[in-house]
Amino acid sequence: MTAERVEPGEAREIAETLAARLVDPVGVFAAPGRVNLIGEHTDYNAGLCLPIALPHATYAAVRRRDDGVLSVASAQQEDRFEAVLAEVSPGSVDGWASYVAGVAWALRDAGHVLPGMDLVVDGRVPLGSGLSSSAALICSAALAMCAAAGIDPDRQALVAATMRAESEVAGAPTGGLDQTAALLGEEGHALLIDFRDHTTRTVPWQPGDAGLELLVVDTRASHSHADGGYGSRREECEAAARELDVPSLREATATDLDRLGDGRLRRRARHVVTEVQRVADTVSALDRGDWTRVGELFTASHASMRDDFEISCAELDVVVDTALAHGALGARMTGGGFGGSAIALVPTERAGEVTARVAAAFADHGWNAPGVLPAPASAGAWQVR
Ligand code: ADP
Ligand code: MG
Repeated sequence: MTAERVEPGEAREIAETLAARLVDPVGVFAAPGRVNLIGEHTDYNAGLCLPIALPHATYAAVRRRDDGVLSVASAQQEDRFEAVLAEVSPGSVDGWASYVAGVAWALRDAGHVLPGMDLVVDGRVPLGSGLSSSAALICSAALAMCAAAGIDPDRQALVAATMRAESEVAGAPTGGLDQTAALLGEEGHALLIDFRDHTTRTVPWQPGDAGLELLVVDTRASHSHADGGYGSRREECEAAARELDVPSLREATATDLDRLGDGRLRRRARHVVTEVQRVADTVSALDRGDWTRVGELFTASHASMRDDFEISCAELDVVVDTALAHGALGARMTGGGFGGSAIALVPTERAGEVTARVAAAFADHGWNAPGVLPAPASAGAWQVR
């Protein structure tokens, strides 16, 4: 068995094909998926995280219509969605279209006047792989709708609107990491996001200059407790913060953890407190060009998610252990957990072997072949044509 290479495709070509499906399109807009380098489940704890935008994006072409109707079709879905814009609200739409309808609702709720629109969408971010196809969809649709409405969007304001779309209309609570990365990511850089005040700073991320490559491995596994797991982890973090009498776990220190006994709450909080520190340490290590340390921090982050936060699974552990056994400097699961993707920082000349070993290990377990994505740090959402 070999791993399937998941290519991002050629942006202009995808955009031309989409635009050709609409008479008189306003334009085609793209928003990338993201992979979080480190800082997991820290966003809703007012912590730090460090994602990069992927070259894999979702593309949305848009044209205006004058009947106040929003119509959306996706190459990844069979059904077309249609509704009167003014009737879209939280609870009125479900399924994949709720992400797109949600953006229209959030923009209107922020006071913008939207025309009726036809949107056609095509995505190159694997769906449900922890690489944030949902935010890519929402953010590409947001740029498309703003263009159709003649709005020149402020990106920070768009982060807020796209977060509301996902949490309030699509019903998927989000801490904002995904939308921020999709809208503010920069080529050749990771984005340090501080969720205490939602500020961002770019950090150069060019592993190729050090003879390294970031492998993104999509396990293609998704375990049914993912949604419930996310919710219960969030609740446990809030409970731990209440017990420590701090506004969020960002305000807790390593010594505070002793006040949480030695049970589950302590382990959950310990993940968050140590993970925030690891993000800061990763940025310092990158400043020094100390890639060995970056790798160690990745691996420590994985151990924390596996043992303290308990969000890993067999497939993710196999990617991490196999990559480390065959020369990776570090490896960790990424995204919400319970399936999805893992990353490994590997010497470029070992990337082929690590990939083959991971695929072989998956075959030995009788699992489906994993996907492997090329992942140079790429640009945030943009207009393609
Ligand atoms: P992730 O964001 O990690 O890929 P989610 O479960 O958050 O996983 O989002 C995946 C969902 O987003 C899909 O099940 C689908 O409803 C929607 N989605 C993402 N991309 C597209 C697309 N190109 N077309 C239609 N729906 C999409
Ligand atoms: Mg998502």
